[in-house]
Amino acid sequence: MFCPRCGKPYPDDAGACASCGLAFSAAQSLPPKEEGDATGGIIPYKNAPALIAYYCGVFSIIPCFPIGIAAVVLGIKGLKRARENPAVRGQVHAWIGIIAGGLFGLLWAIVTVLVIIGISKGRFGG
Ligand SMILES: [Zn+2]
Repeated sequence: MFCPRCGKPYPDDAGACASCGLAFSAAQSLPPKEEGDATGGIIPYKNAPALIAYYCGVFSIIPCFPIGIAAVVLGIKGLKRARENPAVRGQVHAWIGIIAGGLFGLLWAIVTVLVIIGISKGRFGG
């Protein structure tokens, strides 16, 4: 048998852990660890749209505005999912995706339009 608190082995007939002093009658009533607790709930593995939105938002810094649009769309999906089932988390990731994707998406859209106008006026490429 192993102590649930410190992980040290102990004899089956022991009343308390020799290393950390945890009483085993109390140990048996400890609540089970929440699934995915190792990440502290920081990364929303159960909310894929929010997670993808976050990465799309980050990569929307690259001058390619469809990534920003994808970040906004997925971010809204992730927010909906988090609202319907709060256990999946991911609201923060979804918002980062929406805000970053929206800002950079808009920025690159404007840049693209300006470049197209510039080309059509002959100021670029010659
Ligand atoms: Zn222990």
